[in-house]
Amino acid sequence: MNPAGFAEERPALGRLAGARRQDILAALVELGVPERERNMRLAQLWHWIYHRGALDFSTMRNIARPLLDKLADRYTLARPEVVAEQISADGTRKWLLRMPPAHAFDKGAEIETVHIPESDRGTLCVSSQVGCTLNCSFCHTGTMLLARNLTAAEIVGQVIVARDRLGDFPGGARPPGGLTPFGEGVRAVSNVVFMGMGEPLYNFEAVRDAIAVMTDGDGLSLSRRRITVSTSGVVPEMARLGAECGTMLAVSLHATNNPLRDRLVPLNRKYPIERLLEACREYRGASNARRITFEYVMLKGVNDAPADARALVRLLRGLPAKINLIPFNPWPGSPYECSDWETIERFSEIVFNAGYASPVRTPRGRDILAACGQLKSESEKLRARARMMLEESLVVGQG
Ligand code: SAH
Ligand code: SF4
Repeated sequence: MNPAGFAEERPALGRLAGARRQDILAALVELGVPERERNMRLAQLWHWIYHRGALDFSTMRNIARPLLDKLADRYTLARPEVVAEQISADGTRKWLLRMPPAHAFDKGAEIETVHIPESDRGTLCVSSQVGCTLNCSFCHTGTMLLARNLTAAEIVGQVIVARDRLGDFPGGARPPGGLTPFGEGVRAVSNVVFMGMGEPLYNFEAVRDAIAVMTDGDGLSLSRRRITVSTSGVVPEMARLGAECGTMLAVSLHATNNPLRDRLVPLNRKYPIERLLEACREYRGASNARRITFEYVMLKGVNDAPADARALVRLLRGLPAKINLIPFNPWPGSPYECSDWETIERFSEIVFNAGYASPVRTPRGRDILAACGQLKSESEKLRARARMMLEESLVVGQG
């Protein structure tokens, strides 16, 4: 008890699962580890946290007990909390994760992460922000009221949770229930796409740092070529992404003329199609072997005519491009419908005949609202409802 009679509050434990090298080094300095030992200890901790997926300091056999005790006293290996797990009939999993509160008034952000198993790979779709400030008119995430950036550790935390749950760390077991069609020897998380909630290039530093942790060869060891960052077109950050991250790039195009793209992706008013394609031409690392993916959501009667397909092909001429046609995934109250199947096929044929592989991305996990653009944490909806009720009561009060 302090003199005022309040119980002494214990400072929150520092989190090391998801931390960058410099954060772990700072922890070692804080704990008084002598300088000559620090790099060795850092390498050991890194290996245990990211290669082995350690959940407890006490399992770190090659680190002396007194240091382990000090670590456990001040730090934790806790992951983001899994609030809910949903498993789709097709094996896709969606986790609702709660991040620890960042400060006294923070309730702890909730975000969604989706895992899509395939026979030769497992793709984790991660969020970079809570919500999104960009309001694309066909996207559920854009309708969330609140938005904040995730930290690098919160982004990496999504990969760690997935590896935990899918038995991807050494000694882990594949989960019971649900389909896990990936074969023996295939990592459950072999690919990462930044296509969950948020605009990754509006949170550049955290995304860059998270990618550095994910691709570190002594730890999570993901290949940069198996990480794709999807942007709605934040032109000024695209060159940095190529230079500093070297990942694959996906661009959410969705329209071939500015008036329509202004409507679908409002950011287009700031960075119109010409500037966006210019930045794609200059994107370092793009080549015929490493093509840029252009995402195109199929909206009935809006952007799905044969003339749109021809315009798309013309627009992308000369770029090392792949075209990904995404059937629109509806969400409650969405103002669009998905194009008919024949329309999508006709569109895809035009694109294919122009020399582009144009896989129509089969929607995965639609039954659990885990498909592209359907993500929106439930808690946010509840909060939105609570806010609406509050506003209504204020209106009544003013009357
Ligand atoms: N903010 C980034 C990344 C997240 S969205 C971006 O916009 O690129 C990932 C992809 O899903 C984007 O191509 C986005 O346009 C698409 N998308 C959003 N809502 C969708 C919906 N309802 N149906 C299908 N695709 C959608
Ligand atoms: Fe944000 Fe991407 Fe959704 Fe647009 S499509 S609102 S940029 S998450």
